[in-house]
Amino acid sequence: MLYGLGSITRVAYNGISMVRVITIPVGPLQTNCFVVWKEGDDQCIVVDPGAEGDRVVLELARLGLKARYVFITHGHVDHIGAVNFVAETTGAEVLAHPGDNLAMKTAPLQAPLFGMKPFRPPRITRYVEEGDTLSLSDVTFTVVHTPGHSPGSVSLVGPGVVFVGDLIFMDSIGRTDIPGGDFETLRRSVTEKIFVLPDSTLIYPGHGPDTTVEREKRMNPFF
Ligand SMILES: [Zn+2]
Ligand SMILES: [Zn+2]
Repeated sequence: MLYGLGSITRVAYNGISMVRVITIPVGPLQTNCFVVWKEGDDQCIVVDPGAEGDRVVLELARLGLKARYVFITHGHVDHIGAVNFVAETTGAEVLAHPGDNLAMKTAPLQAPLFGMKPFRPPRITRYVEEGDTLSLSDVTFTVVHTPGHSPGSVSLVGPGVVFVGDLIFMDSIGRTDIPGGDFETLRRSVTEKIFVLPDSTLIYPGHGPDTTVEREKRMNPFF
């Protein structure tokens, strides 16, 4: 793994400003941690700093960005291991859905099983629900509740992009055999909350490559 080689994607927004996304795969399960910001602005959202917090913070410094929010898509161990480190180092707010409180409390017990460094349950500073919004200057991101992989899974919809955690992947879906998971609920979340977004919307999943709404509607074998 090479430090500093996150992939940058530009996304047009209103023809005026751009949202940039950098992907930093972290930890033993190569969880995608995303740094999201408006082109020309220095505030950012860090999505799922699952591990390797020092690397995430270095990347922010390299990009000259200040983390305003840490957004947790869901409470599984591979998505939250470095939340406190990043929040304490940067002063960012920590946002999660209350439906994954139990998962977040117990996740640290699983860290050794995955060869992860010990950590404490994330300290949530603001609980989010369906329809809540976050702003980076004039760019608005909306929270959608997308349970199925876990009860408190949330996706974050921005201009031309959606961060979905482990809800859906390129050609696949998140596991539903973990406690709190449910296949039909997951299918409903995808069809009612993700597939209704414009076809060109970039889907950024918690693992593996990014994809689009159009591609997954057409190719994903689960739909
Ligand atoms: Zn998960
Ligand atoms: Zn995951």
